Amino acid sequence: MKKILLADMDKCNGCELCVDACSMSHGGFCSLSNSRIRILREEPTAQFAPLMCEQCGEHPCQDACPVKAIVFDPELSLLTVDPELCVACGDCVEACPYQGIFLGEETALKCDLCGGDPACAGLCHTGALRVVEVSPQTVASGLDRKQAKLHFIERNRHAH
Ligand code: SF4
Ligand code: SF4
Repeated sequence: MKKILLADMDKCNGCELCVDACSMSHGGFCSLSNSRIRILREEPTAQFAPLMCEQCGEHPCQDACPVKAIVFDPELSLLTVDPELCVACGDCVEACPYQGIFLGEETALKCDLCGGDPACAGLCHTGALRVVEVSPQTVASGLDRKQAKLHFIERNRHAH
């Protein structure tokens, strides 16, 4: 079993508390540029999509990294960015279809589940963000949700 962070676009109201919670958890200050989660707003519908690593099985971010800075953490069972290796080229950002990895001031920034207890989900008061444990067999059940998110991102590709 592994933990993943799930976002329910229908419940997100765009308050961005999660954005601040993430930055606080990874440095003790609030800054969009230090957050591993961002909110994409669709203007005509006023809908919101939390953007963060979906822990996709294909991990094109890792494949794109020229210096192998995206490494598997066996304890958390997810990919993390090694800040000592990352040269902030942005290739991983370009490669991620979910817009789930970001370029910070010195390195790429990717959700690491705050070590297993994500601060964003703890502060999300609408229930739009939650952590679930999944087995390889249940990963397929999230395909509809991922497709919906990909469509949302595609519709709003130039909105931010
Ligand atoms: S950052 Fe993007 S490409 Fe990399 S594992 Fe997460 S969802 Fe997949
Ligand atoms: S920004 Fe860092 S992690 Fe991303 S591809 Fe470049 S070196 Fe690798």
